[in-house]
Amino acid sequence: MKIYCPKCTWEPHAHSRWRCTCRHVWNTFDTFGRCPACGYVWRETKCPGCKHWSAHHDWYHDLPPVDAERILDSEPAHP
Ligand SMILES: [Zn+2]
Ligand SMILES: [Zn+2]
Repeated sequence: MKIYCPKCTWEPHAHSRWRCTCRHVWNTFDTFGRCPACGYVWRETKCPGCKHWSAHHDWYHDLPPVDAERILDSEPAHP
């Protein structure tokens, strides 16, 4: 699967990390944008390359749209 920023094509690496508002730091692409510590789902992801926010599913480029929707629908909403 090809993952890169839809705005500048920056590619996340295995060692790339994002910080949640709960201060947990992890690779958001390991969990489809869901913080493993507090369970919050980040539907938008900030690019470390261009500093712009993009919808998380827009980062996936070889994913059939129907699968992307199923993944998003299976995520529980944050209370
Ligand atoms: Zn969190
Ligand atoms: Zn970018």
